[in-house]
Amino acid sequence: VSRFEGIPMAPPDPILGVSEAFRADTNDVKLNLGVGAYRTEELQPYVLNVVKKVYVLSLMAENLMLERGDNKEYLPIEGLAAFNKATAELLLGADNPAIKEQRVATVQGLSGTGSLRLGAALIERYFPGSKVLISAPTWGNHKNIFNDARVPWSEYRYYDPRTVGLDFEGMIEDIKAAPEGTFVLLHGCAHNPTGIDPTPEQWEKIADVIQQKNHIPFFDVAYQGFASGSLDEDAASVRLFVARGMEVLVAQSYSKNLGLYAERIGAMNVISSSSESATRVKSQLKRLARPMYSNPPVHGARIVANVVGTPVLFDEWKAEMEMMAGRIKNVRQKLYDSISSKDKSGKDWSFILKQIGMFSYTGLNKNQSDNMTNKWHVYMTKDGRISLAGLSLAKCEYLADAIIDSYH
Ligand code: PMP
Repeated sequence: VSRFEGIPMAPPDPILGVSEAFRADTNDVKLNLGVGAYRTEELQPYVLNVVKKVYVLSLMAENLMLERGDNKEYLPIEGLAAFNKATAELLLGADNPAIKEQRVATVQGLSGTGSLRLGAALIERYFPGSKVLISAPTWGNHKNIFNDARVPWSEYRYYDPRTVGLDFEGMIEDIKAAPEGTFVLLHGCAHNPTGIDPTPEQWEKIADVIQQKNHIPFFDVAYQGFASGSLDEDAASVRLFVARGMEVLVAQSYSKNLGLYAERIGAMNVISSSSESATRVKSQLKRLARPMYSNPPVHGARIVANVVGTPVLFDEWKAEMEMMAGRIKNVRQKLYDSISSKDKSGKDWSFILKQIGMFSYTGLNKNQSDNMTNKWHVYMTKDGRISLAGLSLAKCEYLADAIIDSYH
């Protein structure tokens, strides 16, 4: 008899499990709108041209790379120095006083997830008993991450089902009601799963209450440049907080904006009020990383550092980001046009256009989402979220029929 008899079967992951079900469906009309990964109009995965170029350049420049010291030795615990510099500058802007004053502790992480996990470990160790407030709803993995790091969390109101918009007053009330010194997890842009972001004026008010209450903001930046098409615009929320002199935690990911999903490249940044504390925080982030994974992988870090550090490649990346964000915006518009012209019920679908980023939160409940899958072969998460990055213009009419049928 197995020694592992006591280990029960784990449930499938609510997001990655959708792809498994999709693969098992043999109907040709099937559509996978579950996982948030960019697809072309032909619904194929996309490798950015800049990423291909970096590969080619690095192959051609083998000697150059060796001279520069590129090899497969371990990276330091904190990761590749050129990457850490590039990622903090991309986030905050190269001329940000926090960078000049060396108040930013940056450690390369295992993409967004691993960076969040490192931030959670820092909270668990140095802020025992502190709670993290997360939005209701949020990306499903946030709860897993804080649970596994043994950091208690609770939710603040965010989504208002009546308007399919932001419950701003509820959000402010809940942040105000939390005990002083609470960590507040915020999505830097393109909120997942709702696609609903605060306006610039609302961000100011959110910063006001966080400051009043001495809370600590913890930004999850998984879509910089991918939401609006502009790196600066998508980082405006974080920069607003930093410009106020607030201390801020930021986890970054290059999965979406550079299409480096499998390379696991991102960073954990702590912006502190002094360079001395930034140095101490960084030393502890390294200490936490060492027994978890020792040091991060090098390949993705070199791609980011090379793209950001080479002006022609940097410009090309920005153009490709605009192209990807633009395709998603076009699909969003076409989906709205199709639904609003087909649906005769008088329902207002304009929320689709107000949402931003990869996702649309349709407001479909679990039963309606089940109908989408069982009857229409449209695979999506059960919270009513669809990934527009997995949709083509050609499939918008079909999806509109599926959504209208499932609603009514
Ligand atoms: N945060 C949010 C809000 C996300 O949507 C994602 C990706 N789905 C991540 C973090 C992390 O993704 P990764 O670990 O691939 O960077």
